[in-house]
Amino acid sequence: RQRPLPKPKWMKGTVPGGAKYAAIKAKLRELKLHTVCEEARCPNLGECWSGGDTGTATATIMILGDTCTRGCRFCNVKTSRTPPPPDPDEPSNVAQAIASWGLEYIVITSVDRDDLPDQGSGHFAETVQKLKALKPEMLIEALVPDFRGDPSCVEKVATSGLHVFAHNIETVEELQRNVRDYRANFKQSIDVLKMAKEYAPPGTLTKTSIMLGCGETPDQVISTMEKVRAAGVDVITFGQYMRPSKHHMPVSEYVTPEAFEKYRALGVEMGFRYVASGPMVRSSYKAGEFYIKAMIE
Ligand code: SF4
Ligand code: SF4
Repeated sequence: RQRPLPKPKWMKGTVPGGAKYAAIKAKLRELKLHTVCEEARCPNLGECWSGGDTGTATATIMILGDTCTRGCRFCNVKTSRTPPPPDPDEPSNVAQAIASWGLEYIVITSVDRDDLPDQGSGHFAETVQKLKALKPEMLIEALVPDFRGDPSCVEKVATSGLHVFAHNIETVEELQRNVRDYRANFKQSIDVLKMAKEYAPPGTLTKTSIMLGCGETPDQVISTMEKVRAAGVDVITFGQYMRPSKHHMPVSEYVTPEAFEKYRALGVEMGFRYVASGPMVRSSYKAGEFYIKAMIE
């Protein structure tokens, strides 16, 4: 068996901190909310929660349970074909907790729910609508599954009142079968992003994300970026794939910070509204701060 690649010096975490971070953390305990940021021990937590120079604090929460109906080769979420049914009170409870939390930008994401007739899209839309009703100034990003390409599911979420419709293609076109669950594919994901752009009110951004270090070539990254841009996607992010355990797909390569910077510059040149690209970047990395900067320009 191949030995895992040694981690290069740039793949190190930062220590969370800051007054705003401490305040949010205290509030979280009170609200009994669980964030992906904390549960995944995300190294960006200090930066995201403090909001940077625009003061737009970002956090990510997961709805629709902790068990996914799919099994992607890079992902650490537990899987089952028959997860427990969603909690009907979750949209209200989560909306109330987020609204009273004191942050400006929330990324709401979920596991895939192929077991539900509407793939969980109604639950998703309801959560956004309830949150918007309670706190209209809140910036909301929904990071959604592909809903198996069902237009009615995409429409429901795209018209729920969100600011950013995000769906991750995860890897280049050529490696979809190696990396993602067999039910996911490049065309379906691109179609979802295109549909979202059509259904959502003008001014809504669409967004996707790619993990590097899965065995892709630079040419494949560039041609995938071109196709994503041609689908009208406004925002793209690039981060390094990190293997959650030895049972997951190995890392093929640690992409250098210089290469990440090249993709960032290229993305801007291609006309993406903003590009976050770096070894530690996750799709929600400083999303609020980037959103504000992109909308001011
Ligand atoms: Fe949370 Fe995403 Fe920021 Fe990590 S990158 S701290 S998961 S918002
Ligand atoms: Fe993980 Fe999402 Fe794949 Fe489910 S669909 S296994 S949550 S990456």
